Amino acid sequence: MTGTIEVQTERHPAPYGSPEELRAALLDAGLLVATRTDGVYHRSGEFEGVLQAVERYAADQREDATAPRRWFPPVMAREDFLRTDYLRSFPDLVGSLDVFSGGDKEHRALLAELEDGGDWTTHLTPAEVVLSSSICHSLYGTLPTDVPAAGLLTECCGFAFRHEPSLDPARMQSFRMYEFVLVGTPDQAVAHRDAWLRRGRDSLAALGLPVRVEAANDPFFGRVGRMLAANQLTAELKYEVVLDVTDARPTAISSANYHEDHFGLPFGLTTPDGGVAHSSCFGYGLERITLGLFATHGLAVSAWPDEVRSTLSC
Ligand code: ZN
Repeated sequence: MTGTIEVQTERHPAPYGSPEELRAALLDAGLLVATRTDGVYHRSGEFEGVLQAVERYAADQREDATAPRRWFPPVMAREDFLRTDYLRSFPDLVGSLDVFSGGDKEHRALLAELEDGGDWTTHLTPAEVVLSSSICHSLYGTLPTDVPAAGLLTECCGFAFRHEPSLDPARMQSFRMYEFVLVGTPDQAVAHRDAWLRRGRDSLAALGLPVRVEAANDPFFGRVGRMLAANQLTAELKYEVVLDVTDARPTAISSANYHEDHFGLPFGLTTPDGGVAHSSCFGYGLERITLGLFATHGLAVSAWPDEVRSTLSC
């Protein structure tokens, strides 16, 4: 497709031996606070301060100052979620929400179930919203369906939920990303993805992070999923900016995705020539970049190199 993305596979020495070792160091330093649930953390003031600096830094990388910016809530319309087809490809990662919509009688039944230690969730019904699985999923259903000739560029930020309990602090169940999303022609979408991959990589390297670009695929579910993942690699749809945080597999701290017509088709987005719009996005993983900064430069911001602190204004 592009053939011009410089992919590197050579690893750098990692500051931590294992994800468990990194997790213990972050908890000891009080940067993260563990909860009853693996992969769900409270962030300290210092951690959140750096994360917000990273978010501002990511937003400052914009080239087009006229692109609208949107901050999304952690939930999105169930109907839009179904259109993204995420349920088909990643059923194991989905977070669906239930609500109580009964009256007094149903409430009494729920309380009785609760008293008996039974399954009270059977008294709930699916809500009209679900947890967002990817930031840009919230966007497509709200865009004008007639995409202008120049394409539609939108910046968006928000939470994503993935149900994958893990002791690797880089694999949180709930995390934020800052994304640059382009909807337009196939050429515009690919050009956006490729330009952002380089700009994103360089902006992360400027934070003193020894990053590199790798070709990647999503963790599609099941047997059919393994085929989809192989196709995604062959078609060069996904790249990641990775960092060696531990000796385990490299940590993707940003990703660049060309979606082809995956969202344009179900959301009815069309280009002026009558074609189905294609889309692409580049996302800065805010928690993972923050983790990478602490792992690389040390667990106290006060001891970080001056250039990094001044670049981030933190
Ligand atoms: Zn996206």
